[in-house]
Amino acid sequence: VNLTVIKCKAAVAWEPGKPLTIQDVDVAPPKVHEVRIKIVATGVCHTDWEYLYESGKGMKSRPFPLVLGHEAAGIVESVGPEVTKFSPGDKVIPLFLPQCGECERCRSPKTNQCRKNWANMQLGVMADGTSRISYKNQQLYQFLGVSSFSQYTVVPDTSLTKIRCDAPLDKVCLLGCGVSTGYGAAVKTAKVEKDSSCAVFGLGAVGLAAVMGCQVAGAKRIIGVDINPDKFEKARVFGATECINPRDHEKAIQEVLVEKTGGGVDYALECVGSPVIMNAALESTAEAWGTCVIAGWTETETMNIMVEKILMGRTLKGTYFGGWKSVEDVPKLVDDYMNKKLKLDEFITHNLTLDQINVAFDLLKSGKSIRTVISL
Ligand code: NAD
Ligand code: ZN
Ligand code: ZN
Repeated sequence: VNLTVIKCKAAVAWEPGKPLTIQDVDVAPPKVHEVRIKIVATGVCHTDWEYLYESGKGMKSRPFPLVLGHEAAGIVESVGPEVTKFSPGDKVIPLFLPQCGECERCRSPKTNQCRKNWANMQLGVMADGTSRISYKNQQLYQFLGVSSFSQYTVVPDTSLTKIRCDAPLDKVCLLGCGVSTGYGAAVKTAKVEKDSSCAVFGLGAVGLAAVMGCQVAGAKRIIGVDINPDKFEKARVFGATECINPRDHEKAIQEVLVEKTGGGVDYALECVGSPVIMNAALESTAEAWGTCVIAGWTETETMNIMVEKILMGRTLKGTYFGGWKSVEDVPKLVDDYMNKKLKLDEFITHNLTLDQINVAFDLLKSGKSIRTVISL
């Protein structure tokens, strides 16, 4: 066991709404059932941006200062006491959704929503109530048990999965959040069927991964919906058969889709995070059997549903991390990528370094990037 404190660089969010700053931080050794990892690559997800810039608005307020980042891959540096499944040198993907294998939810095949360390993780601390990352003795909160905008971090051994040693970390990091979420929203939560019709709202990484999931599931018609037409070319690469910009139509987008498909799509996937679009997605599905899955994230807003839309047979579902049981399923998704069943490279539009992290946020918000991968 390596008991030394590691000094390294991390991007620190000192307060909500302000850009991140690169600081020299201390990363403490792992405690019982914890693993210290060297982060090799991290994606920048919309949820990182939302925690920083929507804190107290679309997102609940959480304690700052904070080290963000949750879509990453790395290498185990050292393990704490009682860790049995990991050794230094293992290639790993940290998981913002744990899989302890023991709680009631882990034992159920119906859900992936493990509750291990949940309350502490929401606050930004480990099981003992403290964080392992600090700046000049000031504690920096961790993000969803991960904090990958740091060269080193410490995670619970239930929030980590070992992956094959030939996997390229600068690609498979995307399976730590966005791609797994969108892909699973289609294949696992919606359970898209062969020859079905689908509409995907929002064509960022989550939406494009949902499009890919619809294609892998054999959907006949996959309609991409985005207000940014620059996303359409990529959507076709992932399998969209047509794309629509709601701003090109006078009518509401749900009406356009219902007309186009002669009654509505079989599956609609919301990958934006806005209640208005969630409603549009639900109303664009076919009465009697349409299924709408919400992947977009908002924590404080409510959705207003016309009861009749549900009464007549539609299903509305949400998905967290695409419904995957994180520890056991992520390595399988890595295999799917290595076997070319699943695309990852095509999501990566930019490669930057940690000191360019705010540029990555700007690229995401301006719609110029799908995913920026930061190398640490
Ligand atoms: P992104 O910013 O890359 O993509 C969002 C897309 O939505 C953009 O292409 C944007 O142009 C489009 N959009 C915006 N307004 C629209 C509108 N009115 N109609 C149609 N399209 C519109 O974001 P992302 O990283 O792909 O994440 C998407 C959402 O998924 C976010 O809300 C994120 O927080 C959420 N998310 C959820 C989970 C989960 O576990 N459920 C995991 C990861 C991300
Ligand atoms: Zn994410
Ligand atoms: Zn569990």
